[in-house]
Amino acid sequence: MPSQYQQLIEFDQQHIWHPYTSLNHPTPVFPVESASGVRLKLADGHELIDGMSSWWAAVHGYNHPALNAAVEEQLKKMSHVMFGGLTHQPAVDLAKTLIDITHEDLQHVFFADSGSVSVEVAMKMAIQYWASKGQPQKQRLLTIENAYHGDTFGAMAVCDPDNGMHHLFKGVLAKHFFAKRPHCKDSKHYDQEAIADLQRLLEVHQSSIAAVILEPIVQGAGGMHFYSPAYLKKARELCDEFDVLLILDEIATGFGRTGSLFAYQQANVCADILCVGKALTGGYMSLAATLCSSKVANGIGGGEYPTLMHGPTFMANPLACAVANASLKLLLDSPWQQRVQAIEQQLRIELEPCRNLAAVKDVRIKGAIGVVELHKPIDIHWMQPRFVELGVWVRPFSNLVYVMPPYIMKAADLSQITSAMQQVVSEIT
Ligand code: PMP
Repeated sequence: MPSQYQQLIEFDQQHIWHPYTSLNHPTPVFPVESASGVRLKLADGHELIDGMSSWWAAVHGYNHPALNAAVEEQLKKMSHVMFGGLTHQPAVDLAKTLIDITHEDLQHVFFADSGSVSVEVAMKMAIQYWASKGQPQKQRLLTIENAYHGDTFGAMAVCDPDNGMHHLFKGVLAKHFFAKRPHCKDSKHYDQEAIADLQRLLEVHQSSIAAVILEPIVQGAGGMHFYSPAYLKKARELCDEFDVLLILDEIATGFGRTGSLFAYQQANVCADILCVGKALTGGYMSLAATLCSSKVANGIGGGEYPTLMHGPTFMANPLACAVANASLKLLLDSPWQQRVQAIEQQLRIELEPCRNLAAVKDVRIKGAIGVVELHKPIDIHWMQPRFVELGVWVRPFSNLVYVMPPYIMKAADLSQITSAMQQVVSEIT
């Protein structure tokens, strides 16, 4: 009779899909019993230091007393109530904070239930804005190669159609425009070729483009590429010149990860529409938001199509809003900038030697993000258990072994992660 632990794994592998996996050839899964601080405790008693922040989200670590208390307090009042025709303090407080901490032009908030949905809403806002302005033909989006904005159909259509994860769906997705990806220059100079391509597409297709959508400074799941703030600045100028809106997707980069509270601040630009998610609730619950300027909100509201056509059942869930309020307070009251800088410096020192390993193509560090890019795709069946053996949680994908630890991580724990990365990458044959 297999142990309870084995039974759990067997049932899981036969019946449950995990992100981007096959049921016929499942990748290994590790049952987690609890998580606290920067440690995940597996059901077999094994402890792992978490290098992933549960995909950019758990910036304060797990089981945080302040976040637990926020959920418990809210639970005593109401866990959920529909947002159609009703409102509540947690949502209003959260909207106020988001308006406060983002660019002063962003004054209106739509609460979505996931990052992908917030991107869908951003795209709808842009298209509806132009329809209301009497330009309903402006329905296309323009983005860059290696973009990633989510897994729903609208969001997939602005993910890289060739290098991305969704090329299977290419035939059923809306057709948008893709400019060359900017290659990383220093922070003052932009990649001229990439900007010329963006400009060319705007010149030719301006009349059908509603918005440019970009992940500012860091492209995440599309390849973990970084680019210069100077490119973003130039892209903003081109949007103004060609009269298209700019949507910035800060779902991964928001709330300090790249060293500034929002990555767009490094380019000193403002979006017309901004998406946030992931770390918004400190990783406790699924919640995202789409903010927009008064120009966009009033443009939609004052036109022929004044009603923004979206309204999820769990919109502005009070538990999620309450924990987001507590998480933002915790973040803003903490020395997050010093913590992110310290992680950045340590990642630079400790991951740079990976560059000398045969399997390694590039090493990139930005804020609390460390990326080791390999020449070839990794074998997850071998690599994942190997990281677990070494006592760390690192979840590689494609040819990328990367980390974005919780901001509270101590230097000794981070060193254990970076030495495991060096060790595992050195063992690739
Ligand atoms: N945009 C970006 C930049 C992301 O990294 C992600 C999530 N990986 C999304 C959108 C989609 O968010 P979610 O998974 O919450 O739908």
